[in-house]
Amino acid sequence: MAQVSPEQIQAIKERIDFLGLVQRYCSLRQAGERWMGVCPFHQETKPSMTVNPGRGFFYCFGCHASGDVIDFYCRINGLDFMDGVQELAREAGIELDSGGRSQEGKKSGLRRQCLEMHRLAQELFEQSLASEQGKAGREYLVSRGFDPETAHRFGLGWAPNTWNTLKKHLSSQGFSPEQGVQAGLLSQHQQGRIYDRFRSRLMFPIHNLGGKVVAYGGRIVGEGEPKYVNSSESPIFTKGDLLYGLEQARRSISQSKQALLTEGYADVLTLVQFGFANACGVLGTSLTSAQVRRLSGLCTTVILLFDGDRAGQQAALRSAEMILMAGLQVQVVCLPDGEDVDSLLRGQGKDALQDLLHQAEEGLAFCLRMITTFSAPKDIMSWAVNFLQSLSQAAWQAYYLPRLARGLQLSEAELRRAMQAPRRSSNAQQAAQFAVISGPSGQRDRELLAFAVRCPEYVPKLKAQGLAGLLRTDRGRQFWNKLCDYGPDQILPYLDQGEKAFYVSCQLQGQEAEKDRKVWDDIADLLLRGREQSTKQRLKEAIAQAQARGDEQEVARLLSAFSQFLKGAE
Ligand SMILES: [Zn+2]
Repeated sequence: MAQVSPEQIQAIKERIDFLGLVQRYCSLRQAGERWMGVCPFHQETKPSMTVNPGRGFFYCFGCHASGDVIDFYCRINGLDFMDGVQELAREAGIELDSGGRSQEGKKSGLRRQCLEMHRLAQELFEQSLASEQGKAGREYLVSRGFDPETAHRFGLGWAPNTWNTLKKHLSSQGFSPEQGVQAGLLSQHQQGRIYDRFRSRLMFPIHNLGGKVVAYGGRIVGEGEPKYVNSSESPIFTKGDLLYGLEQARRSISQSKQALLTEGYADVLTLVQFGFANACGVLGTSLTSAQVRRLSGLCTTVILLFDGDRAGQQAALRSAEMILMAGLQVQVVCLPDGEDVDSLLRGQGKDALQDLLHQAEEGLAFCLRMITTFSAPKDIMSWAVNFLQSLSQAAWQAYYLPRLARGLQLSEAELRRAMQAPRRSSNAQQAAQFAVISGPSGQRDRELLAFAVRCPEYVPKLKAQGLAGLLRTDRGRQFWNKLCDYGPDQILPYLDQGEKAFYVSCQLQGQEAEKDRKVWDDIADLLLRGREQSTKQRLKEAIAQAQARGDEQEVARLLSAFSQFLKGAE
């Protein structure tokens, strides 16, 4: 939270259309001032998620996912808070000012420039694909059977066969060649000469989740090496951070809860054109944990569609492991020897792939089969131990351990012994703990705090009359302090997952003036008795101390105060 002020968060929330943003991922229908939809965060077919754009929160009755627009965005895109805020701020056109941290300010200025340069490049590439220069590109698209609609949907373009068309275009808009290099769009020769990085290539733009182009993959058409040239890393693009086509596929993925993950740019396009709208690609590197996190917000199952050769199967193994470790289901489709996605679909049609999808191998079974086939016994054991220790939630070990033991024909005890390293605790466990407070003393804390959340106008009174002294759990007091420190418009980013779920579920109960006044009377009564109790306790202690000192006068004074107090309290 260190770098964004509550005002900036407020400004982001005001400018981002909450409803529109949620609808990028799932469909909603209106029910009064609320909107209901199928929750994208757990497996469900009934509309269990409610979005209240007026009050700025969402809540799922099934899995208790909840929070504001920033929470929704972070959760569904697998981002942590600061990254989510930064992406949304950019989308909302809000400068997250540096407040003295000029380094951060400079960075966001740089990112803006890079995005603008990519916008200009995109314009140029799309125009040149449509122009005379882009003839080879268009012919290639036709030869691969891509229709113009798909090409347009994915923003395909053409980099002209020149050394400085893009360089000139950028400089005509006020960007220096050095800035173009920094954006990853231009390259610099050892002797200093700067030139267009992409020449005579079909350009596949890579979008971030805000829909902005942040990098390119450029494919050569016809003969030549290398087949693909990719953008270098830049302030807006980190390799292994994004998936190709995810921006276009996310709605379909979050609706079907399944992502079809493949290797190449063209494979994604082919899949989409054949009706598999949930396809995305790993962008030429092996799958990264950042990419898995992005998927994990959107779906419960990832189907791997990798080549059937040894390299493809090895890549599928690594990917399947990572996805399982993140707690998602995996299925692996083995393409027949010599076939790839493209040849299969164009040669045998959609049904052929559909059949293979139905026969997909379950991910863990696939891993076990690969490991036992290709590894030495000592490597099998260390693979199993490593797998178990890498699970992102220690609790899953209980689930996987017997399955691994069985699959590898080891005894469970043997496997357990091999796992000596200490278990890792995880944030996710804390996040999964949805009740703010449990236990009998927690129940009363919960009721008191629920009232404070529902009726924020009573918070000052509750504070003045000493609610803090009445709360019996640390968790309750911690939550109460936050309620006192932040208003209803500001508080959400400061709550942890459990608190957030509690907060939003209380808000959902809505206000009923009559009932709330009665609750307030009860609480006021409780507070009064609490104060009396502590006054009584203080007086008793003071009397005991005065007696111990032998201060008769003080004892007399305190006793009289005590009897006064008892009278007053009746
Ligand atoms: Zn849910």
